[in-house]
Amino acid sequence: MADRIPEIPLTGSRAEEIFPKLTSTQISRICAHGRSRKVQRGDVLMEAGQQHARFFVVISGRIDVVRPTDAAELVATFGPGQFTGEINLLSGRRGFVRVLVVEDGEVVEIDRDHLLSLVQTDGELSEILMRAFILRRSELIERGVGDVVLVGSTHSSNTLRIQEFLTRNGHPYKYLDLDQETGTQDLLDRFHVSVDDVPVVICRNRTALKNPTNEEIASCLGFNEVIDETHLRDVVIVGAGPSGLAAAVYGASEGLDVLVLESVSPGGQAGSSSMIENYLGFPTGISGKKLAAAAHMQAEKFGAQIAIARGATRLSCARKPYAVQIDNGPHTPTKTVIIATGAEYRKLAVDNLSKFEGAGVYYGATAIEAKLCGGDEVIVVGGGNSAGQAAVYLSQTARRVHMVVRAAGLSDTMSRYLIRRIEQSSNIVLRTRTEIAALDGSDHLERVSLRDRQTGNVEVLEIQHVFVMAGAVPNTVWLKGCVVLDASGFIKTGPDISSEELAAAKWPLTRAPHLLETSLPGVFAVGDVRCGNVKRVASAVGEGSIAVSFVHQVLHE
Ligand SMILES: Cc1cc2nc3c(=O)[nH]c(=O)nc-3n(C[C@H](O)[C@H](O)[C@H](O)COP(=O)(O)OP(=O)(O)OC[C@H]3O[C@@H](n4cnc5c(N)ncnc54)[C@H](O)[C@@H]3O)c2cc1C
Repeated sequence: MADRIPEIPLTGSRAEEIFPKLTSTQISRICAHGRSRKVQRGDVLMEAGQQHARFFVVISGRIDVVRPTDAAELVATFGPGQFTGEINLLSGRRGFVRVLVVEDGEVVEIDRDHLLSLVQTDGELSEILMRAFILRRSELIERGVGDVVLVGSTHSSNTLRIQEFLTRNGHPYKYLDLDQETGTQDLLDRFHVSVDDVPVVICRNRTALKNPTNEEIASCLGFNEVIDETHLRDVVIVGAGPSGLAAAVYGASEGLDVLVLESVSPGGQAGSSSMIENYLGFPTGISGKKLAAAAHMQAEKFGAQIAIARGATRLSCARKPYAVQIDNGPHTPTKTVIIATGAEYRKLAVDNLSKFEGAGVYYGATAIEAKLCGGDEVIVVGGGNSAGQAAVYLSQTARRVHMVVRAAGLSDTMSRYLIRRIEQSSNIVLRTRTEIAALDGSDHLERVSLRDRQTGNVEVLEIQHVFVMAGAVPNTVWLKGCVVLDASGFIKTGPDISSEELAAAKWPLTRAPHLLETSLPGVFAVGDVRCGNVKRVASAVGEGSIAVSFVHQVLHE
């Protein structure tokens, strides 16, 4: 008998949403997409790590989902009317559980393509299945049921990077902190790695990766399907922040053949926001991670292919069709391109900054960072909305938050509601006309020197955590002269491109560029990478969806 792993108690209605029972009419609609087969106790319907996960509905008998550990821990059990699966079925990622028949009976089996077509065409079943898949994934994350163990240390910036990568990709993992947990040495010995190799990712209980890159983790966990570089796409979307994900959802749902390339994790800057409170439809706010995970899944539901930890390194713009080079490797051809590469935080002008990045200096204020500095004093640098949000969020767990702003105040750069919250927080100290002069410490930040810009006086604070949110620089280096940029490197589109610039760029058409179209026909720029953008999730989402309507027009030209 399988051991049961610790469960989160499920309330009646939540349990019904996670493990719903389908009606006979719903089952007969599913049967039309799959094949029915008899099964016997002991049959393994799917093995952990299998690339092409399948979906099973139990008609009679019983099947268990177990983790393939020595103890074969039970994750869930399904009887008549219930179905297996979670969100990896939509993404095509490898599963990390074994599906085992424990009582003779009959099941309906469906492959991924047919499952996608079912959720795209049957609204009622789509709602039931998608809700169950999302809730099951959150349960797995909360219970740490997965195929990854991360052995790391709080003093290591790469540990933080890997935690963020797994978390932002919604992948469940178990974290063992070398500095706090006993028994980690045994595990390291088993995989012939030492403490000096930390962070170590033990992937699928088989391979130990020493300080792996995000790409290596994605590859070991089977995050990405193979990209067919001979296949001509309707549109390649570069970047999976809010604007790229919106373009992917609209493009794929309108029948376009969509490939999305994302160099890090879905969500972009918004993914690092602890709480977005001004996005339409979420009166109580939504974390950037949740918004990104939902959008990512929505795009995959409609059939967009999303490649994670795969970056565009060049646009071949002198040829038609265009081609996007991935990670300095082969080029993937495409009729149109949507550039949604957003922007990155501006860095502090301090010599030894890189030494402390991830080891006291952070560019996002999510639950992971908040946990690292709970009860301590922290500094937030910047006077915009992202800095305001971070200060308010961190003030819930930090002893004191110092907001360091170069300007004389916040009113020109921050929304009124955030200024009010900052004023009302007893543990947020606003330090205007101030900048960071120096950072100090050995393997982790220990002291920060603040300079008063009026008097030149320097004050040294014993603070170990600095959150930098001081504006952004566009990610356009990879475009290497293909499109017209403004003086700060943002991409000019539509009416912002002057006739002289169009002539210099050899614009070949009699029509002017569409709104959001760059100086290259069929290449669009959306969201924070675009000159004149307004740095909002809603506008990025809006631009991503508008660009798709122009893609249709270009494809018909
Ligand atoms: C902490 C924080 C809090 C915020 N809070 C709010 C808020 O409450 N409300 C609000 O409206 N706005 C908020 N914003 C602003 C909002 O998040 C941005 O306006 C929005 O994310 C822009 O979306 P985007 O898709 O254009 O770009 P980004 O979010 O920057 O996404 C771009 C994506 O492209 C990827 N990429 C870059 N280069 C490449 C490449 N060469 N190949 C492949 N991929 C690439 C990046 O990894 C990234 O994932 C916040 C921003 C931050 C940083």
